[in-house]
Amino acid sequence: MTPSSLPKQTPPSGTPEPSGASGTPEPSAPGAPQAPAPAGASPRRLAALRGGPDVPHKHLDARALAALAANPGCRRRALLDGAGVDKGAVAQALGSPAPFGQSQFALVRGNAFEARVKADGGQVLLALLCEQVGEARPEPEQVVVPDVTADGPAGRAERTRLALAEVPEGSWGLLDHPWLSLRVAGSTAYLEPDALAVHPDGSLSIIEIKSFPILDGAADTVKAGAAARQSAVYALALETQPRAVRESALLVCPKDFSNLPAAGLLPLRKQIAATRRQLRRLTRLEEIAAELPEGVHFAPTQEPEELAAAVESVPAAYAPECLSTCELAFHCRQRARGAGSVVALGRSVRGELGGLATVPDVLAAASGDPGSAAAQDPAAALLRRAAALRAQALQDAAARGPARGSSQAPAARDAEVG
Ligand code: SF4
Repeated sequence: MTPSSLPKQTPPSGTPEPSGASGTPEPSAPGAPQAPAPAGASPRRLAALRGGPDVPHKHLDARALAALAANPGCRRRALLDGAGVDKGAVAQALGSPAPFGQSQFALVRGNAFEARVKADGGQVLLALLCEQVGEARPEPEQVVVPDVTADGPAGRAERTRLALAEVPEGSWGLLDHPWLSLRVAGSTAYLEPDALAVHPDGSLSIIEIKSFPILDGAADTVKAGAAARQSAVYALALETQPRAVRESALLVCPKDFSNLPAAGLLPLRKQIAATRRQLRRLTRLEEIAAELPEGVHFAPTQEPEELAAAVESVPAAYAPECLSTCELAFHCRQRARGAGSVVALGRSVRGELGGLATVPDVLAAASGDPGSAAAQDPAAALLRRAAALRAQALQDAAARGPARGSSQAPAARDAEVG
């Protein structure tokens, strides 16, 4: 397989995140070592938002950051993720759990595949990388494999930083499950790439191992795009260390439906620029928290009405893409639909409707009533034209009689879909 066989990547657009071969960090158990809170975000304030010091802190990971970058306007997600709230538990307590994340079967299969490709000390991974970038494959004794284990997320991130510096110039290095840190909107995220390779020229390659297959030399576009967004987040986190990060990440997947590995290069340059831009747009955690009513928190154990009120006190920016990226998607969709908000119809429809924010506004604008305030919106003329064309089409269809093969009159069919 050649690098060009992987699909071209696109900037973040809220597409589903892939199922990684490796699991994401679990929420810390109460009493487990916690990462030091970032400057500007009081640890006491973050704990209070979660509902108290005993409520586990769910750390941001690359998948969450990629999803945040896809919807930077959502203050609700920015606050809950930044404060370490378990959104899945919140959605469950609100009665709107979203089927989200990897199945147990996919996790087990992904972990087994990753263990298999790393079993020989990373020789297979480096061979795949060398094949893709056109470099000579190193002998096992020429590869430095530093230990990156340490206590706690901050300790592991610091150990990784030191391990990167330990690989001598001119040598290959391979870091298995290093940890990286990235400051985002006043919070610190800890990230765990599957592997990092240090090239003899001192540069770094990000390696992502996924359990989705590469079929006939091509990976699924959506899943490969999500893998590229995750890799872009890792690249941003690596900008604070002195080594240059290569502009392509190595994606390793099962070949067809076998257990054999296949690889391709994921171009990162555009993804890095887009992800950086989106993450910078995130409103700082403290600013959002400062606007909350006194005493509001997000503990899933409180009364459902209180929890719902707390969640609603933070503005959201729902879009249908949330369904594949956020645990609160069913809750936010329900609220958006209940409010008649046009955001539930998708970003493109919302964009076409200009200043018309609700379905009743849109219907009023389409009705042609000159007394309606909505009729003054620039989109009103287009809506009236569309309504007239639809009415004309229905009238013509009714005049022609029932379509061949259909026992229903056009008006009845229309009533079913309208
Ligand atoms: S589902 Fe809700 S909280 Fe999550 S990103 Fe979408 S709007 Fe924000």
